[in-house]
Amino acid sequence: MRIFFSVIFTLLILALFICAVYARKSGKPIGKSVSILCFSLLLPVIGNLILLLSQNEFASTIGCYTYVIGMDLMAFSLIDFSMAYCNVSWKRNWRSHLVYILLTADIVQLSLNPFLNQAFGIESIVVDGSLYYRLIPYMGQIYHRFAVYMTLFISMGLFAVKTIRVPRIYAEKYYVILLTMLLAGAWQSYCIFSRILIDHSMVGLGAFGVILFYFAVIYRPFKVLDRMLVNVASSLSEALFFFDNNGRCFWANKQGLKLVQLKAEYIENATAILSKMFEDFDKKESEWTSKAVVGSNENARYYGLKKQELTDFKGRTIGSLFSIQDNTESEQQLQQELYNATHDKLTGLLNKDALFEEIKERLSQKSEIPYWIAYFDIKDFKIINDIFGKDMGDFVLQKIAKWLNVHSTSDWIYGRLTGDAFGICFTSADPRIKMIEKQISKFVLSNGSVEHNILIHVGLYKITDPSIDVSIMIDRAHVALNTVKGEFNRHVAVYDDQMRDQVLWDQKISAQLEKAINEKQLRPYLQPIVDKDGKIIGSEALVRWIHPDEGFMPPIKFIPVFERNGMIAEVDKYIWRCACEIIASWTGKKSDLFISINISPKDFYFMDVYAEIMALVKEYRIDASRLRVEITESVMMTDVENRIAILDKFRKAGFILEMDDFGSGFSSLNQLKDMPLDGLKIDMKFLSSAQENKRSKTILRNVIKLSEELGLFSLTEGVETIEQYSMLNEMGCNLFQGYYFAKPLPVEEFEKLVESEP
Ligand code: C2E
Ligand code: CA
Ligand code: CA
Repeated sequence: MRIFFSVIFTLLILALFICAVYARKSGKPIGKSVSILCFSLLLPVIGNLILLLSQNEFASTIGCYTYVIGMDLMAFSLIDFSMAYCNVSWKRNWRSHLVYILLTADIVQLSLNPFLNQAFGIESIVVDGSLYYRLIPYMGQIYHRFAVYMTLFISMGLFAVKTIRVPRIYAEKYYVILLTMLLAGAWQSYCIFSRILIDHSMVGLGAFGVILFYFAVIYRPFKVLDRMLVNVASSLSEALFFFDNNGRCFWANKQGLKLVQLKAEYIENATAILSKMFEDFDKKESEWTSKAVVGSNENARYYGLKKQELTDFKGRTIGSLFSIQDNTESEQQLQQELYNATHDKLTGLLNKDALFEEIKERLSQKSEIPYWIAYFDIKDFKIINDIFGKDMGDFVLQKIAKWLNVHSTSDWIYGRLTGDAFGICFTSADPRIKMIEKQISKFVLSNGSVEHNILIHVGLYKITDPSIDVSIMIDRAHVALNTVKGEFNRHVAVYDDQMRDQVLWDQKISAQLEKAINEKQLRPYLQPIVDKDGKIIGSEALVRWIHPDEGFMPPIKFIPVFERNGMIAEVDKYIWRCACEIIASWTGKKSDLFISINISPKDFYFMDVYAEIMALVKEYRIDASRLRVEITESVMMTDVENRIAILDKFRKAGFILEMDDFGSGFSSLNQLKDMPLDGLKIDMKFLSSAQENKRSKTILRNVIKLSEELGLFSLTEGVETIEQYSMLNEMGCNLFQGYYFAKPLPVEEFEKLVESEP
């Protein structure tokens, strides 16, 4: 018996020691309290072991003291541990103070025992021929037990309160420790009161130490983890489905249940529902993603699925997790963004980029019937905007979009290109121009009260090579449109080879302009202007291009090109500079001569014409009156007030201003009343049969008279014969220009001509 319990006690001591050291090293906040408690639990066990093994009174006395004092120290650390474990602050806790007082008093009382013999004594008994010692309790021992029991009860009380207060899943550890405490206490009491020879309740004490070590240091609340994971899983926005390794669904979170509309107990049926949603649901791969759309149009919902295989710590598959995300909102947002990026806000039609893209894609599909591009815009849309306001302009564009939506057939791809321009790609064996003409002529806009006729021009291009850039096709349709833009009774044009040649020509000479200017291929020719006596008093600068390949080029071949693309400004600036340079170089007989320069209406869009010319005059220090300025009435077609102000500035600065090609336009007479002018330039071309036609003569005579009465000088250009000259002279015309006198001449020839005059 002695040996048996000695071994048991030694093992307990070892176990408690290991627990104490481990708890200390665990680094956990509670570790210290646990370590102290385990160490203090060692003492009663050691005491009992000594008592068990002692063969004389001295040894047994040592054993008894170790035991009882050890119990007190154990009680100290028990209350300390209990408070730490149950999160009770000991500062404000009267129970701990009570325990401390009781235990301290007990230690004092016990230490008096050797002198007063009031706590316990030692007696020896012989059992089965062996000598044993045991403790005889006196009064002091009763106090000792009271103090230790108080500690135990208070500790148990703390644990009991905690067991009730904490959530159920946490209660487990408190509950077990409480129970062990109770058992150990009961066992101890039994041993004490039965005055049993060997206090085997030490086993209970040791077990208590080990158990609380386990719960406080090692134990991890897996149930809590479980619960927490379930909570986390349920709070996720994704629907989660857990499948076991047999492919059976055994759990789904709230979102999952909602998605498949099943109750938790029928979750096994989720497999069938999910397979219906996701085509590739039974795919065997360990990880994959998939997408599904449920419903259609506005009610469509978009889902993304992700499968993940789950493994145990050895890497064996234990099941799989399917997470399904409802992407409807982001998908709708994406679609809205895509719509915004590809559609025009105002009309809801495809925008330019999207239209090009769609046409490109359509053209990649072969078609028996040829594809066409139509480019159309609204005539004078700017005027609609200016006169009726922007809202009306927008209304017109929306009306056109609506018309397209209603009248288009399924093979049309159409969209808005820019401001008032729209593009269509369609198939047709041969578009019937007359029908299109008829259709667009009917385009009447009504906003309830007012009806407004909208004129539309259409350019068509038949796609012969679908591989060329869509923008080029649109450009070609646009080129076709430009050919009918100025016309009043023709509104539809089909792009043809001649137009193509024109475009090629335009591109070619536009690319060459800069070099031509730098290399002086562009030159001013001077055509003499004479007075009543035929004496040269000045000239008009007319540009010529001495082209390395094309040879001598008259302006008709390139001026209109540059007027279309705005490069005319470069040509004019260059010619004006040449004119100033020539004037500045003239001396002697030539020092009174003037040069007339031409200003294109387009120049006003690309520069400050007045500032530009003024700067040249200053640079070459010439008299402004020697640089005459020719403008046509078309200059006054737009921005009238501004233009008048510019012309005023020219006159005030001393320039002489002439209206070119008077009589060729529609409103020359009308312009006359407001335009600041010095002279009228009448072109014989418009009155070519002046000699023969009586009416023409009358007009010519009256125009000359009119200019005289308005205080303007008159200049007739295109004078080819002596008859014309004398007739005009008779009519009172002031100045003359024309082949009769001289053709436009290279500068040196012109100068020689002047020098040769008498
Ligand atoms: P425009 O300003 O009316 O110039 C007069 C045109 O009439 C010139 O044609 C001239 O050569 C031609 N001409 C002169 N006398 C006669 C004649 O007796 N009979 C006939 N049939 N024609 C005659 P050109 O030089 O071919 O210029 C044509 C047009 O090109 C000019 O008409 C002008 O509008 C434009 N142009 C010429 N040079 C320039 C320039 O440097 N800048 C600008 N913006 N336009 C220019
Ligand atoms: Ca002219
Ligand atoms: Ca002219």
